[in-house]
Amino acid sequence: MDMIKPGSTIGILGGGQLGRMIALAAAPLGYKCHIYCPEANSPAFQVADSYTVAAYEDEAALEAFAKSVDVVTYEFENVPAKTAEVIGEHALLRPGATALATAQDRLVEKTFLSDHGLAVAPFKAFESLEELELAVAEIGMPAVAKTRCFGYDGKGQAIIRSQSDIEEAHAAMGGAPAILEGFVPFNKEVSAIVARNPQGSVAAYPIAENVHTNHILDVTTVPANIDGVIEDTARIMGAKLADALDYIGVITVEMFIIEDSGEVIVNEFAPRVHNSGHWSIEGARTSQFEQHVRAICGLPLGDPRNIGTVRMKNLLGEDINDVEQYLKDPKAHYHHYGKSEPREGRKMGHVTWVDAE
Ligand code: AMP
Repeated sequence: MDMIKPGSTIGILGGGQLGRMIALAAAPLGYKCHIYCPEANSPAFQVADSYTVAAYEDEAALEAFAKSVDVVTYEFENVPAKTAEVIGEHALLRPGATALATAQDRLVEKTFLSDHGLAVAPFKAFESLEELELAVAEIGMPAVAKTRCFGYDGKGQAIIRSQSDIEEAHAAMGGAPAILEGFVPFNKEVSAIVARNPQGSVAAYPIAENVHTNHILDVTTVPANIDGVIEDTARIMGAKLADALDYIGVITVEMFIIEDSGEVIVNEFAPRVHNSGHWSIEGARTSQFEQHVRAICGLPLGDPRNIGTVRMKNLLGEDINDVEQYLKDPKAHYHHYGKSEPREGRKMGHVTWVDAE
């Protein structure tokens, strides 16, 4: 069968905090983790059974890694296609290469979403200035220009509010293939986190409401303060995407909510566990990390329901040092990612407050 039994080893591409929290959740189920990451001293190494420091282009190291584990997953979506291919030749890669390839290119992603009946903002691909001018004429303003690949936390983006912004927005793409999207007048940003296992079972978490500051996630609240019909719509959309991708693992779908019209519009998805799901470690009956392990190992999925009102706040830079303040608070759960340098804006940890009903 599809089950990878406890006692087996999970390989994780990427050694950041997400890999660290997957490894921490895998241990109680009896799995060992082997982390693969190019950077020495990666946060996940501290809590893993073994690790490899090598480049994602190092095919011999990838092969040895893949052969030493029972399943491979990843904690970031920019895993190069060639890396995924080499891993796939020697091990099970979960989620699979289709989910990765779809998530890596905004044009492929938005096309896939709309082809599967999931609402997205109007979009059009462009590369030259002339193509951008045509796209603006078609989509209207305001609009958002984004590079197709490698954008995150608002990087590689420019807003076009008037004709005079077009040239600058084109320059901001740095000559890379890009898309123009209609600006969505949203009231809320939320995420739908869904798990799917190889048997096709699906578990959808309660919708999480996200507030960003300087393009970085600041606070997540569960339950989201949204209408019940919108909540159900968003969860069903997440599950529909997981099915459409024949997905295995935890997937995160970021969405915009327009409350007046009740519209739920997909912005993008990440083929992985996500910062907006950290609340689930203490705030759900099964955390997103344990759920991901269960899904990729072909185990029954756990109960994703929240256990009360939950709030998660990221600790950036020096905020990580307010440890005493958080530990004195009986409702707070403090997480430190084991990074030594608290650079400004760097995700160093998070705090979750659970108000159980
Ligand atoms: P992204 O890199 O696509 O996650 O976008 C980063 C942020 O930019 C989002 O969280 C939104 O706040 C904003 N944004 C992105 N696309 C749009 C859009 N089409 N309309 C309005 N705001 C957007």
